[in-house]
Amino acid sequence: MALLYHSGDDPERWRTAFGECAPGLELRVWPDIGEAADITAAMVFNPPRGVLASLPNLKLIISKGFGVDHLFKDPALPRHVPIVRLVDPSAVSQMTQYVVHATLRYHRRMDEIEESWRRSEWRRVPPPDTGKTVVGVLGLGVLGRNAAENLTSLGFSVRGWSRTEKDIPGIACFHGAEGLRPFLGECRIVICLLALTPETEGILNAETFAGLPAGAYVINAGRGGHVIEADLIAALDSAHLGGATLDVFQVEPLESGHPFWRHPKVRITPHIAADGIARTAAPIVAENMRRVEAGEPLLNAVDPARGY
Ligand code: NAP
Repeated sequence: MALLYHSGDDPERWRTAFGECAPGLELRVWPDIGEAADITAAMVFNPPRGVLASLPNLKLIISKGFGVDHLFKDPALPRHVPIVRLVDPSAVSQMTQYVVHATLRYHRRMDEIEESWRRSEWRRVPPPDTGKTVVGVLGLGVLGRNAAENLTSLGFSVRGWSRTEKDIPGIACFHGAEGLRPFLGECRIVICLLALTPETEGILNAETFAGLPAGAYVINAGRGGHVIEADLIAALDSAHLGGATLDVFQVEPLESGHPFWRHPKVRITPHIAADGIARTAAPIVAENMRRVEAGEPLLNAVDPARGY
C-alpha cells in the first residue's frame, strides 16, 4: 500500500508526520513513483494530466487543498475513484485568521492610520461601530462558516450566502441566485469563500460589484476564477469599491506586469491564506486510507455531480 504525493510543498514534513501517525505507510513522491501498481491512494494538488488515470490500483484521490476544481480540469480523471478533500483543522484556523485580519484592516482604517504614522502625524481615527458594520461571507462551507462565526463573535453584523438554505445562529443566511442581490445590498465588506464551479466562476463581476454599497471592500480567498479581473479594476477605478484584498488569481503566480501589482487599492498575498500543517493533516489522510480499505464512509467526500 503506497501513497502518491504530488504538490509544490516539501514532502519531508509529510514523511515525518506519516512516520508518527501511520508508520507502515509508504510515501512515493512524484515523479519517483516506482511501480505504479503499488499505489492505492494519491494526495495531489494540480497533478499533471493523466497521472491519476495511469495508476491501475488507485482506490482514493485526496485533494491536497480544500478546492477540487484542479482535479476536474483533468479530462482523464478516473471518475470511478472516490475523491476526498483534505479538511485540515489547522487550515480552517489559518483561513479565519486571514479573513479576520483583512477585515480588521479595512474596518479599523489601518491604511489611513499607517499613512499618518509614516508622516509622523498624530491623527486619531476612532474605532467605528462594529455592530453596525455588515460583513458578508459568500460561501458557508467549512471555511466560510468558521470565518462567519468568528466575525460574529468579534461583534460584526454577519451575513452569509450559500447554494442551499442554512440556519446558523447569529448569522443572516441567504441562498440561491435570488438571494444574492439582497445579500449584497448592505455589505460593507464581502469575503469570497465559495467553491469554484461552473455556477460560481466569474461571480465577482461588474453586476455583483454594482450590487454592493458604495465604498465596499472585497476580500477574495476562494479561487482566482471567481473574479472577472477587468470588472474589479473598473469598479475600483470608478471609486465604487473602496479596495480589494486578493489571495488568489486567474493565473498564478500573478504575472509581473499585471495591473493588480501596482493598483493603489489592491492588497496582494501570494495564495497563502490557508495551507494546513502536515502534523494535523496526515492523521486525516491515514484515516481516510484506512476507511477506503475497510469499505467505511469517507471523511469529506466530494460529490462529483455537484463539483465540490
Ligand atoms: P466547501 O466546504 O465545499 O464550501 C463551499 C461553499 O460554496 C458552500 O457553502 C456552498 O454552498 C457554496 N456554493 C457552491 N456553489 C454555490 C452556488 N452555485 N451558489 C451559492 N453558493 C455556492 O468549501 P471550503 O472548504 O469552505 O472552501 C472554500 C473555498 O476556499 C474554495 O474555493 C477553496 O478552493 C478555497 N480555499 C482557498 C485557500 C487559500 O489559501 N486561498 C485555502 C483553502 C481553500 P452549500 O453550503 O449550500 O453547499
